[in-house]
Amino acid sequence: MGIPFIQMARVGAYVVRKRLAGETHYPLVLMLEPLFRCNLACPGCGKIDYEDSILNRRLSVDECLQAVDECGAPVVSIPGGEPLLHKEIQAIVAGIVARKKFVYLCTNALLLEKKLHLFTPTPYLTFSVHLDGLEAEHDKAVNQPGTFKRAVAAIRAARAKGFRVNVNCTLFDTMTAEEVAAFFDFCTNSLDVEGITVSPGYAYERAPDQAHFLNRTRTKQLFRDVFKRRNGTRWQFSQSILFLDFLAGNQSYRCTPWGNPTRNVFGWQRPCYLLGEGYAGSFRELIEDTDWDRYGTGNYEKCADCMVHCGYEPTAVNDTISHPLKALRVALLGPRTDGPMAPDIDLEGQRPADFVFEGLVKRLSSEVEERPRIRGDAA
Ligand code: SF4
Ligand code: SF4
Repeated sequence: MGIPFIQMARVGAYVVRKRLAGETHYPLVLMLEPLFRCNLACPGCGKIDYEDSILNRRLSVDECLQAVDECGAPVVSIPGGEPLLHKEIQAIVAGIVARKKFVYLCTNALLLEKKLHLFTPTPYLTFSVHLDGLEAEHDKAVNQPGTFKRAVAAIRAARAKGFRVNVNCTLFDTMTAEEVAAFFDFCTNSLDVEGITVSPGYAYERAPDQAHFLNRTRTKQLFRDVFKRRNGTRWQFSQSILFLDFLAGNQSYRCTPWGNPTRNVFGWQRPCYLLGEGYAGSFRELIEDTDWDRYGTGNYEKCADCMVHCGYEPTAVNDTISHPLKALRVALLGPRTDGPMAPDIDLEGQRPADFVFEGLVKRLSSEVEERPRIRGDAA
């Protein structure tokens, strides 16, 4: 379980091909956001706080598939918003699967059971269900009682029909290491999901709750404390072992923001899924015209505490390909949970935060207003 062999082999071969071709800025996972509208309003979410003109926008099937072709990444993650609210999600997923790309459809699962009939089980499709802990923690994190039970019922229904299911969780400082470990045990032993994707929350400037994001030191200690509590259960993560080792403070990594490029209703987002500081009209323009050195931990204040998988998993994958024996050692022994941590990046030279987002959203909103709207939710 975890990442299927066919996917690991394809992604590995893709990275080797890109390296042999001398390319340095290649994507691994396309973050395709066909809409921002959601049926929840989680306090830690920085994605849904837009006005209606933007929340009503959708990327069409053609726009989605064009982005997939333009970018060429072997894996496509469909976050949102809630992708199952998109009326054409079936055609979007089918088009990507037909291209033999691995799709992760990220969902809070409130609509999943009702919409399972739209999809067919295949190794190319994984439902990545947003769960932020066991019942009390999850319902609090998404600010709606009953969501955990519905998501868990949907996961069981999807597994029973033969779908691949992944649990996608974001950690804040509200959970103890014991609670996280108990949650991972539940996902592995009771839900029987294929894998868990875990990341510390990123402090989106538009997220309503700014108080519970983890800083780097606390993140690393939390992951060490969690990994210490494995108790023989073999948790399956849909992430590379070196990314987990990084979360436990054992790797000094810089992010690779172009590894997970984002296409949404505004265009190609600069520089990454987490920070919206401008938009490019094409994937090529994003790669070629973004001044990547302005971003990343140590370069930019907003990046100081970021350890999120969309920035650091591509770094870990590249490191795995460069140092397979190191990766094998960590895979066999698990991430180290004591001893000194790898040195962190010096923040002395970082440029101050530039608060461009509000102005940018205002301008993009008025542009969006002028375009024809695609209306109607499928919920
Ligand atoms: S379910 Fe996901 S997209 Fe929707 S509000 Fe929560 S975090 Fe945001
Ligand atoms: S550190 Fe990298 S991935 Fe994280 S917000 Fe900054 S640019 Fe994005």
